[in-house]
Amino acid sequence: MQIEIVTIGSEILSGRTLDTNFAFLARALEQASVQIGWHTTVGDTPERIAEAVRRGLERADALVLTGGLGPTPDDLTRRAVSNVLSRPLQLDEQVLEHIRERAARLGRKLPGSIEAQALLPLGAEAWLNRLGTAPGILILHHGKPVILLPGVPQELEELATEYVVPYLRQRTGRHVETFTLRTSGVFESALHEKIGALPQAWPGATLAYLPSFFGVDLRVTATGTDPDQVRRVTGRAYDELREKVDAVIYAEGTTTMQQVVGETLVELGYTLATAESCTGGLLAKRITDVPGASRYFERGFVTYSNASKIELLGVRAGDLEAHGAVSAPVAEQMAAGACERAGADVGVGITGVAGPEGGSEEKPVGTVFVAVASPRGAAVRRLHIVGTRATIRERSAQTALDLVRRQLRGLPLEPSLEG
Ligand code: AMP
Ligand code: MG
Repeated sequence: MQIEIVTIGSEILSGRTLDTNFAFLARALEQASVQIGWHTTVGDTPERIAEAVRRGLERADALVLTGGLGPTPDDLTRRAVSNVLSRPLQLDEQVLEHIRERAARLGRKLPGSIEAQALLPLGAEAWLNRLGTAPGILILHHGKPVILLPGVPQELEELATEYVVPYLRQRTGRHVETFTLRTSGVFESALHEKIGALPQAWPGATLAYLPSFFGVDLRVTATGTDPDQVRRVTGRAYDELREKVDAVIYAEGTTTMQQVVGETLVELGYTLATAESCTGGLLAKRITDVPGASRYFERGFVTYSNASKIELLGVRAGDLEAHGAVSAPVAEQMAAGACERAGADVGVGITGVAGPEGGSEEKPVGTVFVAVASPRGAAVRRLHIVGTRATIRERSAQTALDLVRRQLRGLPLEPSLEG
């Protein structure tokens, strides 16, 4: 099934609002084994909305429209769709009741215009919206589903998950299984070389390489009409990928590196302190993004200047002088100093050149040293990160966390697919 997603709103067309609804819908619909054939964005004008619906009905098997279902005069989707499909708007008592109940529960007075949200094109079905007043609307037009969803992202997400995905999945009659393996420390090309043509031997399954700051995620999606067969293929793909690239996998699904490190620290009963230069606190921020980090995170030092590295961490002035602030001995002393000064079990240090200025021939922009000090040993790595200041900082934090994970788990300290 090929579908078209139409996002409606002049604020999207002007670039002021990012079209996150499209991104959410496209990902959610993948779970229903539905392919997105087209994505159109139009402003809040009835002609454009009508044109998008007409074109969509010509080429796609189903349409999903979002936006412009609110009660204000610039919300024109409902009427435009009603006109182009020649399905006059009719008041739906059930939706009106839902709107009234909701207002009463929240102690709100209903503006007169709100009743417009209870108007549905003739023959439509409403999917009630738990988070707002505008319902999702399903119209089967000459056998093709035309689905209207409100633009407010939380409402859209809830309705898409609750109704749209199950509805379209049932229509396609296909079963879908997916899993994601998260890798860090190796390029997409190296993974590709190692994995090679494997996916071609997985009937009905595809493998996507999804690179980001944090590494490359490998996502397998298998579809088919026989659920057992789909599960078998998925299981095989999982085993085969694990066998090939296990050495660089740090997590599955949406689990983050900082969660994995947190779990490891809890398991071992260790506490952690950080010492950061070029990341300016990003590492501590990421560690404390995890709820419950207080169980293991003791404190973080942001030591940007040489003086602060000496004063707060006990880095030796002579080494700063001899090797420079961006060097292996300084990173090591930052990690050890954080440990010692905080009274923590594990210390991690980051020092580097985030750029865009400040590079030299010997230490170009993107040169970063990450170090760990722990009861299971100490280590330091020199990195060469290519990218913007943001990329360099994010990758440094990610690699430092991976180094802690590797050190504490007794894994090779350098990520590698060799052997
Ligand atoms: P609307 O349903 O068009 O009145 O939109 C309600 C709210 O959702 C507004 O704040 C819009 O900016 C936002 N919104 C509408 N469409 C999208 C979209 N495609 N992506 C993200 N936000 C959106
Ligand atoms: Mg709008």
